[in-house]
Amino acid sequence: ASFEEVQLTEIIRSNIAATRYDTPTPVQKYAIPIILARRDVMACAQTGSGKTAAFLVPILNQMYEGGPPNIQQGRSRRKQYPLGLVLAPTRELATQIYDESKKFAYRSRVKPCVVYGGANIVDQLRDLDRGCHLLVATPGRLLDMIDRGRIGLDYCRYLVLDEADRMLDMGFEIQIRRIVEKESMPRTGERQTLMFSATFPHPIQMLARDFLDNYIFLAV
Ligand code: AMP
Repeated sequence: ASFEEVQLTEIIRSNIAATRYDTPTPVQKYAIPIILARRDVMACAQTGSGKTAAFLVPILNQMYEGGPPNIQQGRSRRKQYPLGLVLAPTRELATQIYDESKKFAYRSRVKPCVVYGGANIVDQLRDLDRGCHLLVATPGRLLDMIDRGRIGLDYCRYLVLDEADRMLDMGFEIQIRRIVEKESMPRTGERQTLMFSATFPHPIQMLARDFLDNYIFLAV
């Protein structure tokens, strides 16, 4: 199997080639075509499985297919409206996802940003001011940004919950629900939602039931 087997836009193909990933990992092999077909996905996958590229590649591909993101949609004075949002439990994971997204967004007009708690918010706000199409965030810091009126979820077409079980273990369920159930967040059906979790216990099943629309379950 190779990445050439799926229809990807030129920019993402050249960025994959530059990362030197030549063979998709199992989660990439199964998830990428399903995500490109615009289905919601609940995937059980461990860290190290290549799950980050499994969601970033098809999401960025869909953003590129829609033409270069209109910078006005990404920016309204001091408020940013990301087209894609990735929630992650920790600063370390958020940073890793952000670093990976920069590789796949290279030389595109998609601008990724990352925000997390425990770091200077002023620097993060300054970076947001330069535009934000894909936002990687930890839940508490994202809510702070939303409450300050600096992030709007109104145009969020892609939502990813990464390491959902760890987010629940860390006590983020209320924050996650506050984010996903915001009035401004597009409903299921109007957005594509992907959940990744190493395990699939009852609380994760409940989140999947509430956040996903007719989803495909993947275990790799
Ligand atoms: P992840 O599970 O997303 O944290 O990825 C684990 C590691 O595998 C990261 O260092 C990635 O850069 C790397 N990786 C992801 N996909 C591939 C691939 N198809 N081929 C080689 N390395 C990969």
